[in-house]
Amino acid sequence: MDLASVRSHNDRTVLRLVRAGALSRADIAAEAGLTPQAVSKIVARLLSAGLLEETGAVRGGGRGKPRMALQLRGDGACAYGAYVDRDELRVVRLDLAGTQVSSSVVPLAPMFAPADVLDALAPLVQPGENVLGLGIAIAGPLDFRDGVVSPNGLPGWSAVPLRALAEQRLGLPVVVDKDTNAAVLAEAWARPLRDAALVFAGTGLGVGLLLDGELHRGARSGAGEFGHTTIQLDGPLCVCGRRGCVEAVHAAAGSGVEAARVLGAAVANLVQLLDLDQIVLSGRRVLESPELYLRAMPDVAVSVSTHGPDLVPVGAGLLVLGELFR
Ligand SMILES: [Zn+2]
Repeated sequence: MDLASVRSHNDRTVLRLVRAGALSRADIAAEAGLTPQAVSKIVARLLSAGLLEETGAVRGGGRGKPRMALQLRGDGACAYGAYVDRDELRVVRLDLAGTQVSSSVVPLAPMFAPADVLDALAPLVQPGENVLGLGIAIAGPLDFRDGVVSPNGLPGWSAVPLRALAEQRLGLPVVVDKDTNAAVLAEAWARPLRDAALVFAGTGLGVGLLLDGELHRGARSGAGEFGHTTIQLDGPLCVCGRRGCVEAVHAAAGSGVEAARVLGAAVANLVQLLDLDQIVLSGRRVLESPELYLRAMPDVAVSVSTHGPDLVPVGAGLLVLGELFR
């Protein structure tokens, strides 16, 4: 199958509408503002590419022949997502609908190098004709456009061309983005979010921002380095080399209650700054004691992500898969 042939704007519009629940060609035409003939042609192409399937007849609004219902064909395409954390590598495989169909976790030894990550990825990622590619999520700072990363908390990783290295080694298209951006994409895949922050407290601390419904990366892919904003002048030394960052103060807190209180105060600043209406919490620190963190948050809609530990790798896969639906 030639996936490149189904990437026109109208193809992606049709895929997006089917994913959103448009059942028939007539529904799609009405919602997309396309002629029924154009939609029939696009749907025929997507059916033959194996991305859509017909599920049977549904009753239309008026008389005439019943309409054939359409849905995404899960096995029509897939994408891999990986999360390079500070101590482990998580890899998931997503089907066309974004459903997680497999998941692996491999420990990474202290001071691991880029080559160690590629060695760990190679047996877990198989290129194939319906494989769209691999999304890799990692801590910032990084440049989303060229996939060059200098992540905080990974000693020796400075200006690593991770995307180019991974494409060369694995033989498939690769996208690299921050772990927190991947996380907020995963959260927004299942439910609409408008002005929201995904606050991720794991081995590091950061936020993924959705502003006006769009992922906000900033001018230099640096948005969301919330963990490295200063909350305590002359506070504890941080992995980034500065003092008193939210991440360092949170990590140095004497108790879970105190850690949650630090994060709550920092998130309150963020809500004030950006007028956010939704906060979603995740990361292993949050997942260990979600109630503590929920209680410490400011007075906006706050929830804990239901994705569990695979939130970031799922979002990394969606960086690739989501392009079919944009
Ligand atoms: Zn810092």
